[in-house]
Amino acid sequence: MVIFHKIAALQAWLQQQKTRGKKSGFVPTMGALHKGHLTLVQQCIADENYPIASIFVNPTQFNDPADFAKYPQTIAQDLRLLHNVGCEVVFLPSVDEIYPNGLKESYYIDLGEIENRLEGFFRPGHFQGVCQVVERLLKAVEPDFLYLGQKDFQQCMVIQAMMNIRQLPVRLIIVPTVREANGLAMSSRNMRLSPTARQKASAIYRQIQLIKAQLGKKPVEVLVIEAKDALTRVGFEKIDYVAIAEPATLKPIEKYNAEEQVVVLVAAFIEGVRLIDNFVL
Ligand code: AMP
Repeated sequence: MVIFHKIAALQAWLQQQKTRGKKSGFVPTMGALHKGHLTLVQQCIADENYPIASIFVNPTQFNDPADFAKYPQTIAQDLRLLHNVGCEVVFLPSVDEIYPNGLKESYYIDLGEIENRLEGFFRPGHFQGVCQVVERLLKAVEPDFLYLGQKDFQQCMVIQAMMNIRQLPVRLIIVPTVREANGLAMSSRNMRLSPTARQKASAIYRQIQLIKAQLGKKPVEVLVIEAKDALTRVGFEKIDYVAIAEPATLKPIEKYNAEEQVVVLVAAFIEGVRLIDNFVL
């Protein structure tokens, strides 16, 4: 496994690899890796693309500085895990390498209304930061494919919108969410939870499944209220949203129509840790 810290060195190496005739797949991460991240690399290898992973905790996408400061960092273990699943290249840039003109440099991309819904509403500026870093990383790596996790459903949509606007010739592959045995979506943030909270947090998945089972039988607004109440009873101290929405726009639906796809999305805090999850029906 080769590790690069500088864009120029990475690009020189990638240039040589083009002669291998294999297509490349890029897996951007913020480290503190778990099976969810590793599945993206494994999917890339299964698709016969050579995998390039990056680890970069991007300061511009954290609207809460305390969340950035507490973001777990386990770099030695991350490298071991990537090596074990057969990752060939890891890009580990510094903040200066990604933002040579400093963090205050302005960036704006008009993503339309998708940017301001759900995650965008509760984390203002978050998706601008996500697009800023992913655009820079994609321009550095120039992959054929980009592998993202469905766990961050809205992020996948926002990044696809950014790639369309910028006309980047990259194909997005969305990989299903990897879960703990109790249903909790794997997340680097789970490391900050006590074992009890980790168990309680599985209520998010249970409530999503309950909504799925009851769609069409109860009005959507009742399902949302019942799920929020259940999460509060379990011990979630704050619920940003439980939403039943159209997958293409994330606009909340008013009435369930069995002919149309819906996505159920949740964001809630337990032990001060913000967890998100979703399920497409
Ligand atoms: P992060 O390090 O949280 O920025 O995540 C890096 C990538 O891993 C993103 O594309 C995430 O959607 C994906 N990812 C995170 N958790 C999971 C999971 N449990 N299952 C599948 N993909 C995931």
